[in-house]
Amino acid sequence: MKKKIVVIGSGFAGLTAATHLSAAGHEVHLLEKNDQSGGRASVWEKDGFTFDMGPSFYWMPEVFEQHFEHFGYKASDFYQLKRLDPGYRIYANKHQQIDASADLETLKAAFEQREKGSAKKLEAFLKDAEYKYHTAMGDYVNRLSDSITEFLEPRLIFKTIQLNLFSSIRSAIRKQFKDPVLVSMLEFPVLFLGSTPDKTPALYSMMNYADLIKGTWYPMGGMGMVSKAFTDLAKLKGVNLHLNTEVLNIEVLNKMAKRVKSNQGDFDADIVISGADYHHTEQNLLNADNRVYDQNYWEKRSMSPSALLFYVGLNKRIEGIEHHSLFFDEDFEQHAIEIYKDPKWPSKPLFYLSAASKTDNSIAPEGCENLVFLIPLAPGLTDSDDMREHYFNVQMDRLEQRTGQSLRANVVVKRSYAMRDFERDYYSFKGNAYGLANTLLQTAFLKPKIKSKKVNNLFYTGQLTVPGPGVPPTILSGEIVAKEVLKQIQAKKI
Ligand SMILES: Cc1cc2nc3c(=O)[nH]c(=O)nc-3n(C[C@H](O)[C@H](O)[C@H](O)COP(=O)(O)OP(=O)(O)OC[C@H]3O[C@@H](n4cnc5c(N)ncnc54)[C@H](O)[C@@H]3O)c2cc1C
Repeated sequence: MKKKIVVIGSGFAGLTAATHLSAAGHEVHLLEKNDQSGGRASVWEKDGFTFDMGPSFYWMPEVFEQHFEHFGYKASDFYQLKRLDPGYRIYANKHQQIDASADLETLKAAFEQREKGSAKKLEAFLKDAEYKYHTAMGDYVNRLSDSITEFLEPRLIFKTIQLNLFSSIRSAIRKQFKDPVLVSMLEFPVLFLGSTPDKTPALYSMMNYADLIKGTWYPMGGMGMVSKAFTDLAKLKGVNLHLNTEVLNIEVLNKMAKRVKSNQGDFDADIVISGADYHHTEQNLLNADNRVYDQNYWEKRSMSPSALLFYVGLNKRIEGIEHHSLFFDEDFEQHAIEIYKDPKWPSKPLFYLSAASKTDNSIAPEGCENLVFLIPLAPGLTDSDDMREHYFNVQMDRLEQRTGQSLRANVVVKRSYAMRDFERDYYSFKGNAYGLANTLLQTAFLKPKIKSKKVNNLFYTGQLTVPGPGVPPTILSGEIVAKEVLKQIQAKKI
């Protein structure tokens, strides 16, 4: 029964799937094209600064914990978590700001101060979000989502109605809250789902529960510590990790993947799982006969945004900023139009700033600040150095104005990262940063499937399949595919 399993890509999904399958006694080879594991959660080190290149918000800590617990460990065996308070700060226009306090009473007081009656409404809103969170996590996200029939049990149909799948989160929020700053705080988590609030089902208010009640955490040493922990655990469980190993082709014979060809040689396989971007695997690693989705299908998908990032080291500290800051001081609607409806470089971008050195001295030299700037952008835009530099200046101007401190002369490390880098490093379709947008028509069984319909022993995992983008969902995706593979081995189907 011992199978030879090749997993392509060492992001969280690939690492999770590989660990489960190796722990179940199979021979697992995890092939990664880059020189480090972790995928989009890679790390860049320069002159004493350690930058997290991708994710920075550690949400839904129980999903990480369950991963370690499954193998007899705790997250704290690998890294130390700190809950951030506030979770983040929002800078709104006209010099207004609000903090996402970790203490619910303080948060309610901040709401009430801005809008009379909103504290009570927030409590009720979060109660409903809690129900959605537990229902979704208990009944929906762990499903293979291969077909609609999985969701047709009467019990689930009843629950689905209660989850408000068919109304938008925008209307759910705006029906109750009028103050624009409060609205922006409640709509912000939706940005992680790669879509706009009007296109996102109200179900996703579950993210507000994840944000405001479960909290924003920080792994000391940075998110790179988490990808390292997943990698260390994978190795402890016997996974053979091959870095700098780029898969070039999946050889298929009689509807079975037989061999994975890479730039480091060939790997025979009984089962293949791809945790690399779905579009890349199908379009570039398989012959046309074995593809389930054609290029036209992908062109019609609504992708999550790409992003322009700057990793910046300052040789001084900035006074008065928090670990996570959201510069929502320009018109959100206009920026959203420029991402989704009329793709272009934004006229007045919103941006996110991480200053993780506020919490963690180990990621910057003494007296220095570790900054990451991020502007969400339409996927597929033409990407030029001049354009990048223009936006660096826009962000620095706004940061300097808001903090009243001059910073530009103190930049000692600077690197930009955008569409063409995502394409080069991850073979990301149109340079998307985090997969497919979570719109209603791209949810559950409407997403690209985990099981190939053409190649019997080929499976997919990661942010382009179920349950969706973000580190916790991709961990769950790795679990779902591993469970399905084990089930099929048991049933002697593969
Ligand atoms: C800038 C940014 C910020 C984000 N912020 C957050 C956040 O704050 N919180 C959060 O939870 N999520 C965040 N996300 C999303 C989250 O990082 C991703 O959803 C998740 O890490 C994706 O994991 P994955 O395993 O699906 O894919 P990936 O991490 O992309 O892994 C796929 C791997 O496959 C490899 N690969 C591709 N092609 C080949 C090939 N031919 N051969 C071998 N290997 C190959 C790639 O090199 C890569 O390592 C962010 C993402 C980005 C980019």
